[in-house]
This record gives sequence, structure tokens and C-alpha cells, in this order.
Amino acid sequence: MSARKATQARNRATQLIRSSKDVLVGTHLRPDGDALGSMLGLALALEKMGIRVARLCVDPAPAAYSFLPGAEEIGGEPPPWSAQLGMVVDCDGLSRVGALEPVFASLPRLIDIDHHATDRVFGEVQITDVTAGACAELVFDLLHVLHVPLDEEIATCLYTGVLTDTGRFTYGNTTPTSLSIAAELVRAGAKPNFIARKVYAERSIAATHLLGIALSRLLAHFGGQVVSATLTRADFTSTGAASTDTEGIIDHLRAIGGPRVAVLFVQAENGEVRVSLRSDGTIDASSVALALGGGGHAMAAGCTCQGSLDGVRDRVFAELEKWLVTAGSPDAS
Ligand code: 5GP
Ligand code: MN
Repeated sequence: MSARKATQARNRATQLIRSSKDVLVGTHLRPDGDALGSMLGLALALEKMGIRVARLCVDPAPAAYSFLPGAEEIGGEPPPWSAQLGMVVDCDGLSRVGALEPVFASLPRLIDIDHHATDRVFGEVQITDVTAGACAELVFDLLHVLHVPLDEEIATCLYTGVLTDTGRFTYGNTTPTSLSIAAELVRAGAKPNFIARKVYAERSIAATHLLGIALSRLLAHFGGQVVSATLTRADFTSTGAASTDTEGIIDHLRAIGGPRVAVLFVQAENGEVRVSLRSDGTIDASSVALALGGGGHAMAAGCTCQGSLDGVRDRVFAELEKWLVTAGSPDAS
């Protein structure tokens, strides 16, 4: 999106927000730090403007994010009151809100705020930028245009979004803008040490056992170009880990030097298999995920597949093989 179009979109969004008294904010199922930080930071800002807000997500926040202001107010059902406006963050396509899709689709007005590579836009106004490291950066820009002063709570939410979606400012999507926004947020009261501890250093014993099982199942494929690990339902039962405790496990696979792609397979309660993909940048993970019915970013993507673990693994490896061949050997160029 050009700078002029982006300004127009923010101005139009400002008009819609200022003319609304009741707003539903929402984000994607299995929310991560950016989804939650963006939604909760935006919700607090709207409340500061005197707007009534409902925070909606079909899944609860993982325990690691319960420190975020407003996390306890997230609901999976629409409120009893009617809203004039919906604002959906970090979703590449409205279907990413899951069962809440008809709720948002039936609102008189809808704003899409997103930064996905596979951006499937929706709504009347789109504030989208694939170069943004985090959706929280786009919310930050919007709050600036809305003249909502940042406070510690809003800054904590948005900083968490930028921190987590840039992989603690280490992924290729970390830009000078990500870093200046993070600096502004720290100036406004976000506490880097407190937030990093909450997000990265409070893993439960059960979740750590789950991580151990995943690492013990590490496999190399295609001559070491791909690494994978798999978690079954039985692993959750034996460790007592929650389904959200898979968060961060893929980062340990990504930390292995050499492989171009890391894949984590997780058997879900409903029989589906959740697939997380991470790339070193030589393979576009979002294209692989898109071909499997998912989406995401060039270096971090995912999909949810029907079928047995073995069946899904075969499909994912068959798809990956095509991309490994297309992209060629990393040493060939
Ligand atoms: P994760 O592996 O952490 O679940 O997801 C990584 C990225 O891929 C996130 O940006 C997320 O939005 C995207 N993603 C993960 N699963 C799906 C999916 O099933 N569908 C789509 N469209 N995107 C997904
Ligand atoms: Mn995001």
C-alpha cells in the first residue's frame, strides 16, 4: 500500500471510529502476542475515547499473555449490545476469526488492520502493510492519527506485539520503524524486562516437559534441509500441558543452524493437525502454507490440516519438496 493510500485509510478509519459509540474488536483464533497486544492496545485506546468496546477471540489468551491489560475481558461470544463498527487485527482474511466470522461480517462497518504476506483483505477500510514487523505497529500509527495519548497499559500491549512478532527484534521483518516504535512505547511506560520475563521466562514445568518431548522427536529430512518435530494428544495428557503450551516450541527448531525450514506438527483435540512452518528466508513459508490451505508470512506461516498425523506429514513434506526443488539448493546461487 502506498504512503498516500495508507494515510487515506487511517483518516477514513478515524472518521468511522469517531462516529461510533460501540465497537467490537477481534483477532484470530489461537491468538499470539501480536494478535493479543494489537487487539488489547486498540481496545484500551478506544475506551479512552469514551467508546464501549468488546474484545473478541474464539480462543482464550495463552497463560503467558495473561499479564496483558484487558486479557481477562476477552470473550468468545458477542456482547448483548449492538455495535456500529468492527475492527479486526492481525487476520489475513476474516475467516481467521473462526466462529466469530458471521458476527463481524454482519456489522454495519468493518476495518481490517493487518500485516500478513497472504493478506486476504476484507471490510470497508483496510490498514494493511506487509512490511510492518507486527500488526501492533499499524495500531500504533492509527493511535497517533487518532491523537490518543499512549499510557503504560497501551504501551505494554503494543510493545508485546512488536517484541513477539519480530522474534525479540531478531527476525528479518525487524525494521528501523519497528525499533523506533518500540522505543516510543518504552518511553510511554512499557517495561522491556518485565514483558520479556512474562512472555519468555515463565514457562510452566508441564510446558517444559512438552518442549522436551518435542525436542526428543527431532527429525531431519531432505538431507538436513528440513527439520521437524511432532506432538500427539497423548503428549498433552502425559505432561498435563495445555494446548496453548506449544507456543515457542518452533523457535527451538528454528534455532538449529543449517536447515532451511522447520516444521512442528501438533495433533489438535478435534482431530485436526496444526502445522507451524518457519523458514530461514530461502523458502517462502507463506506460499507453502497457502498451498496447504493456510497462510502467514515469508518466514513464519502455518496451516491446519484434516487427517491423520502421518497423512498430514506426508502432504506437508510433498509440498515442501516442490518448494525445495523450485528454490534450488541454497549453495547453488
Ligand atoms: P504459528 O506457526 O505461530 O501458529 O503461525 C505463524 C504465522 O502463520 C502467523 O502469522 C499466523 O497468522 C499464520 N498462520 C498459522 N496458522 C494459520 C492458518 O491455519 N491459516 C492461516 N491463514 N494462517 C495461519
Ligand atoms: Mn502479527
